[in-house]
Amino acid sequence: MFKLLTPVIRCVHKYQSLNFTKTFSSTSFFTAARKQLVVPTFVSVANLANKLNIRYTQLSKTLIDLGFDRTQIASDYLLDKETAALIAQEFGFEIIIKNNDEKESKPISKVNEKNLKPRPPVVAIMGHVDHGKTTILDHLRKSSIVKSEHGGITQHIGAFSVTTPISKKQITFLDTPGHSAFLKMRERGANITDIVILVVAADDSVKPQTLEAIKHCDKYRSNVIVAINKCDKPDANPSKVLNDLSANGIYTEQYGGDIQAVEVSGLTGLNMDKLEEEIITLAEVLELKAEKTGVPVKGHIIESQVKKGAGNSASVLVTQGTLKVGSILVAGSTWGKVKSMKNEFQKNVKNVAPGFPVEVFGWKELPNAGDSVLEVKKESSAKQFVAERNMKIQEEKSLNELEDLNKSRIQQKLQLEKQEKLKELLKYGLSVEDLKKKELELEDQYSEETTNENGIREIPFIVKSDVSGSAEAVVESVSNIGNDEIKPTILYSEVGSPTESDLERAKITKDATIICFNVPVSKDILLKAEKNGVKVLNFNIIYNLIEEVTNILSSHLKPLTEKTVLGTANIKQVFEITNPKNKRKFKIAGSRVINGTVTRNSKVLVMRNNLVIYKGTVDGIKQAKDEAESVRKGSECGIQFDNWEDFEAGDVIETYEEKEVPRHL
Ligand code: GDP
Repeated sequence: MFKLLTPVIRCVHKYQSLNFTKTFSSTSFFTAARKQLVVPTFVSVANLANKLNIRYTQLSKTLIDLGFDRTQIASDYLLDKETAALIAQEFGFEIIIKNNDEKESKPISKVNEKNLKPRPPVVAIMGHVDHGKTTILDHLRKSSIVKSEHGGITQHIGAFSVTTPISKKQITFLDTPGHSAFLKMRERGANITDIVILVVAADDSVKPQTLEAIKHCDKYRSNVIVAINKCDKPDANPSKVLNDLSANGIYTEQYGGDIQAVEVSGLTGLNMDKLEEEIITLAEVLELKAEKTGVPVKGHIIESQVKKGAGNSASVLVTQGTLKVGSILVAGSTWGKVKSMKNEFQKNVKNVAPGFPVEVFGWKELPNAGDSVLEVKKESSAKQFVAERNMKIQEEKSLNELEDLNKSRIQQKLQLEKQEKLKELLKYGLSVEDLKKKELELEDQYSEETTNENGIREIPFIVKSDVSGSAEAVVESVSNIGNDEIKPTILYSEVGSPTESDLERAKITKDATIICFNVPVSKDILLKAEKNGVKVLNFNIIYNLIEEVTNILSSHLKPLTEKTVLGTANIKQVFEITNPKNKRKFKIAGSRVINGTVTRNSKVLVMRNNLVIYKGTVDGIKQAKDEAESVRKGSECGIQFDNWEDFEAGDVIETYEEKEVPRHL
């Protein structure tokens, strides 16, 4: 239903020139001096009627003619400016809408092919979790990441350069983490890489994430070197690794291919120098070059975050030109004049050549991991470029917010309708139990609003994270949870702690949960969240985050109903009895219990020729002249059913209970 807005706009656009004369010839459409109207970005239906000086009912009718759903015709339903403008035009107003699809004035740079100089290779490490990627990187960097990381997973993407021990050449390593949750980041990593080191543990061989990495390398036609890790272990079996790799399309020299494989140990440092030299040899074959001078700087954002006391920081991998303090850069929808730069040893640097990473300070806003970076000459061109980008982003954001707002209003309206229906039913004297049942039925009916067009229920989340790379990785992992019944939907993801505006958005969108990853959450926000019934969850271990989101989704799955048969009885004879008090005649099923127990008030099915002819409850049991609560196997009794007497000798009675069993993803 919510998707309706766009088709309506399209359809109106398509037919506006054809239909106006026919439908609205009575308006001033053809008059020379048409009234002008400034339409705000968003306007409510009531407000638009006011502006157009027409009655609300008249506007509602027009909206219905345009194909709007009845639930959208509420006075506070918001219309975007395009829709509002088209409606206003139909009522004879002149509207001017600025076309934002105008070409962005993107800075363009030319590449001088003649001026190419060798540059260090950019290398990413990929492979199955626990196969030793972090340990290898750690050995290369000689710092202790393994010990400091949360839950044993590398959670940030970064980069560092090393000088090889023998040839004294340089290699730039991307810190691509190994958990499957970070596939997105890994993809990004390998996208800007020249060489991928495929790490396979010699005691574990090829595993699912190894295959994923192989697929990835294939997709991006990466140059691969295999590092058979953990070769210090007694159960290391490098030949099995080579064999398994060849079975999956990675042909090493040993298998007649040209891919190098090195038996290493990240832990002891075994053959690590050999691995580095293999990288240098491959880099020389690849003739990796870039223009160092005379061209605008180009690069990629590897990671970005707000640093206490230093402001917005982003690590940039320079791919062309020499980045200098004072350079003006645009990246994604932000820009900055480079205030200072730090290398991986946190030392200030003034110039950075192609193939090297550096942390850049001076951004107006935080760029996103993966954004491409480009140098421009003047601040004014950077500002113009960014202003146009931001305008587009803002428009998209507002449109999303508008949809959320309209959704929540429709929900409120439907809830009110539901309450009204229940009130009406109460008037007809429904029992509390019936009312509850009815409420559940109505709930089901109205909760359709949260399902998408495929009938999959969508549970909304907002992601807040410390750095943009993790935010994307969290979004990626969360999006993969769910089944064909239920799925998470990410309203948006952002870097930074949750704010009041996040709470507001979560509140507007029914039941949105804010998931925070590696960010501090203030007590004030937690208190406000509690007061507003907004769930804010904080994690610094991705496994826990995935588990909790899985639990949240599972809690929305409809439980299974498990049926247990309590007893069966055969109807032997039908007796007609007269109530001595009111002389009313009633029938009773003279039966014999053949299994289990038949209990008064229990749920019951009566079957004839294996077909269910009655579903209800056991109203009463008589043994001789006495009322009985229950009768066991082997006993004879008279059974009465709730409001039903069409039983016959030979029918089979089955009493049962139903239990709701929660389901899990
Ligand atoms: P990642 O998930 O691929 O980054 O794997 P880690 O680097 O976190 O390593 C997983 C575990 O394997 C850790 O306990 C490491 O100490 C251990 N490990 C990594 N490399 C080696 C190695 O070469 N030899 C041995 N014996 N253990 C290793």
